[in-house]
Amino acid sequence: MKALRFYAPEDVRLEDVPEPECGPDEIKIKVRNTSTCGTDVKIFHNGHQNLTPPRTIGHEVAGEVVEVGADVNATHGSTWAPGDRVQVIAAVPCGHCHECRKGWMAVCQNQTSIGYQYDGGFAEYMIIPQQVLAVDGLNRIPDNVGYDEASAAEPFACAINAQELLGIEAGDTLVVFGAGPIGCMHIRIARGVHEVGKVILVDVNAERLEMSANAVQPDEVINGAETDVVARVMELTGGRGADVIITATAANITQEQAIAMAARNGRISFFGGLPKTNPTITCDSNVVHYRQLHIHGANGSAPEHNKRALEYISSGQVPVKDLITEHLPLDRVLDAFSIVQKGEAIKVTVEP
Ligand SMILES: [Zn+2]
Ligand SMILES: [Zn+2]
Repeated sequence: MKALRFYAPEDVRLEDVPEPECGPDEIKIKVRNTSTCGTDVKIFHNGHQNLTPPRTIGHEVAGEVVEVGADVNATHGSTWAPGDRVQVIAAVPCGHCHECRKGWMAVCQNQTSIGYQYDGGFAEYMIIPQQVLAVDGLNRIPDNVGYDEASAAEPFACAINAQELLGIEAGDTLVVFGAGPIGCMHIRIARGVHEVGKVILVDVNAERLEMSANAVQPDEVINGAETDVVARVMELTGGRGADVIITATAANITQEQAIAMAARNGRISFFGGLPKTNPTITCDSNVVHYRQLHIHGANGSAPEHNKRALEYISSGQVPVKDLITEHLPLDRVLDAFSIVQKGEAIKVTVEP
């Protein structure tokens, strides 16, 4: 079968590999959709410390069960069968460390990941490892949800995790930095689930800002390359500042701007990680102190967030179909990466 294998930074090959075999405690799926995100592009250029090459990458996966290992259903009390439509978690918690027992599976200290320690979804077939099954990380796709939409449930789950920490209240003013797919999903969730009020979308790429604004219709857009973002947000909020700010970008300055534009009792999510070589920001601690700001991190998602993402898509509460703007065959997976890198599409999905 064809698979996209990572060997080293800038050395990623679409090649023929043997079709994987399904062990007694594993499930084998025919991959239908694996979506791409900025992480894939980062892996392509820089690799990742937890990724052991050669490795099939791709972590936003949906597919169809073709084989169920002999021990799986007895071990997990499940009823998996060939033909089942499934979505796969990307971040795999261990299920037994301190954090997992506290219910904080997104920050499991022994977390492993699809496409890092296990072969991922840019391939015709994929094995669901027993570590995923052990934490109930294989999810049935509701009948009215497409494989392409289901593959977007993983990034969607990460956004749900972040927003859950923010205590968003109906009517809150929301600023989202980053008009990529995840910024769009943040806006959809904030409205569909948390009923935020005014939504302001910020980006420095005018074309991407326009494309995403057309899809999710924020109340205001700000091009950070042309406009003083903090001053403009202050103006749009009558000088009060934004109640909730989510930085869905890797740009350090957006985190500083988030602090500067936060309203009293404002809540901030540093959703996007910063470059490893430059991970520090300047923070006026007195602003945090006197304004009583709440600054949150966000690290991936727990299996439960993936289930919730599928429910929100199925119920129509948070639509994602229109955010998937490109469908490409596996042969063109590297084109998909360059589309993502250039920000030319909202979400690009690959169909092996
Ligand atoms: Zn991703
Ligand atoms: Zn754990």
